[in-house]
Amino acid sequence: MKLCFATNNKHKLKEIQALLGDQFELVTLQDIGCDTDIPEPFDTISENSREKARYVHDHYGIDCFADDTGLIVGALNGEPGVKSARYAGEQRNSQDNINLLIKNLSSHENHYAHFLTVITLVINGVYQQFEGSVEGRIIFDQRGNNGFGYDPVFVPEGFEQTFAEMTLEDKSALSHRARAFAKLVHFLKNTSI
Ligand code: IMP
Repeated sequence: MKLCFATNNKHKLKEIQALLGDQFELVTLQDIGCDTDIPEPFDTISENSREKARYVHDHYGIDCFADDTGLIVGALNGEPGVKSARYAGEQRNSQDNINLLIKNLSSHENHYAHFLTVITLVINGVYQQFEGSVEGRIIFDQRGNNGFGYDPVFVPEGFEQTFAEMTLEDKSALSHRARAFAKLVHFLKNTSI
């Protein structure tokens, strides 16, 4: 079965393709000729994830899934949330985003946060969502060189290392994204579509 993963990240695609096996042929946005920066107009990760999947399904008539992720910080009323990629501006710079996060959080004692990934799958016009999250806290002395985004300042609950100090394998054992994708893969492999 052919399924579009609404991404142009070949690395993500390869990982999911390996988990799904050859029962599913995954294609990217580029493969279907979509070079639009798909709008993310909503205030929640769930709605933006759904919108991405809806856009691809409606414009290209292909079954697909889309993921959307954000870092949700309680003391900042859920920010950066849907703005995670461009928290400090359109340049989408991770270090700028981290600096702003630390600045905004510095007057708060509560540093708890979680990452949330929501995947929306649409097959034959039927929508289904899969969520994954990981709880943790934000630290101000950033550590580690692995990963991306907010990884150097995020310490998952039960650990002392930041995500950026973990190997990809260790991060993948507990990350929000891995948890959401595990649910998607389970669904696709165990449901007759
Ligand atoms: P996306 O929806 O996967 O593109 O994620 C949006 C933004 O959330 C990214 O640009 C990063 O700033 C942040 N983010 C998502 N996943 C992670 C992660 O695993 N570690 C650190 N930051 C992340």
